[in-house]
Amino acid sequence: MTATESIIKTEALSKRYNHQTAVEALSFGVEEGEIFGFLGPNGAGKTTTLLMLLGLTRPSEGTASVCGFDPQRRAMEIKRLVGYLPENVGYYGEMDAVQTLEFIADLNGMDKKDMGWRIEDVINLVGLGDSATKKVGAYSRGMKQRLGIAEVLLKNPKVLFLDEPTLGLDPDGAIRIIELIQSLNRERNITVLLSSHHLHQVQKISHRVGIMIKGKMVAEGSIDQLAREKFGVGGKEYTLEEIYLKYFQEV
Ligand code: ADP
Repeated sequence: MTATESIIKTEALSKRYNHQTAVEALSFGVEEGEIFGFLGPNGAGKTTTLLMLLGLTRPSEGTASVCGFDPQRRAMEIKRLVGYLPENVGYYGEMDAVQTLEFIADLNGMDKKDMGWRIEDVINLVGLGDSATKKVGAYSRGMKQRLGIAEVLLKNPKVLFLDEPTLGLDPDGAIRIIELIQSLNRERNITVLLSSHHLHQVQKISHRVGIMIKGKMVAEGSIDQLAREKFGVGGKEYTLEEIYLKYFQEV
């Protein structure tokens, strides 16, 4: 990967399921170190895009590159470098956080001698230090989401794909997840592709956003750029929600 190349890039990427187009000629890029808000209504094609970027589903047309690798040929390399937190993660309620992470680390073949400190590091990073030995069955949804993030951090990823990480959380739980994402980006230089409907939170931490509607990326840029495009004035005057709705109404 050259210095100027985007860490995530797609060119005319499409996916059809039978006769239905889920993603249509998608071309976009995410730069290293960015938090990119990946927005759009349900059914827009966001998850399908993430799956194609991870090499978990094959595009009908087009190409993609993640950390310099083609997901169709080098999915294993991408798996090593990208942490993916899907919308719903299931856990064994009887295990505590340490046991859960040991189980995952073992599955991923992590060296036993590194396991202890790596697990302690990610548990503290996501703020579960005080609950590390509490059974996961007794965790709140927000704590489970933080455990999910700890799990994907175990492999020390360069990139995180987060699909609705604040869904179903109360405002306090949601803000803690958003602050965690921001600190991972700032302190560990992790690039984040963040899919979320919580536009107010996305606006707080995203460097740029993309709006996907009916399989197409209808807008891509900083919130300021998109506000200028739609309203002729900068993003300080408008919320991301107002900008999003404007694009949405015009499709
Ligand atoms: P989003 O993540 O933005 O909600 P998805 O990528 O999940 O959107 O879905 C995009 C479209 O593709 C939807 O119409 C959905 O029903 C369809 N779709 C997704 N996965 C499949 C599948 N495995 N088989 C058939 N259709 C699918």
